[in-house]
Amino acid sequence: MSALKRLVCVQCPLGCKISVELSDTNRILSIVGNRCPRGEEYARDELENPKRVLTTSVRVLNGEYPLVSVKTNKPVPKSLIPELMKTIRNLKVEAPIECGSVLVEDVLGTGADLVATRTVRRAKG
Ligand code: SF4
Repeated sequence: MSALKRLVCVQCPLGCKISVELSDTNRILSIVGNRCPRGEEYARDELENPKRVLTTSVRVLNGEYPLVSVKTNKPVPKSLIPELMKTIRNLKVEAPIECGSVLVEDVLGTGADLVATRTVRRAKG
């Protein structure tokens, strides 16, 4: 017996509705509904190794704000997000921090850098 999984491709604004037929052992039997090969790749990744851009915040020392918002500069495997969050929760960075600066390179060997998404100046006084 097979099952049908429906996805919306987010690789371009067309948002194709993709149907993936899975075997009872979760093997992909067919992919339909994508208008280009990127959709097939997206569907395979989404089912076999889903990835997301991680957005969160990091503690700041001596800054005008106690936290700086951050994100990974590329999607990381969803399965690694709990471990990444554990690492990020233990991070502290010293102000000043420029928006766009890399706070951690290749975070947990994912190939993605952790980047500040706002500027935090040094606290006065
Ligand atoms: S399958 Fe291709 S055309 Fe359709 S949304 Fe994805 S990238 Fe766009």
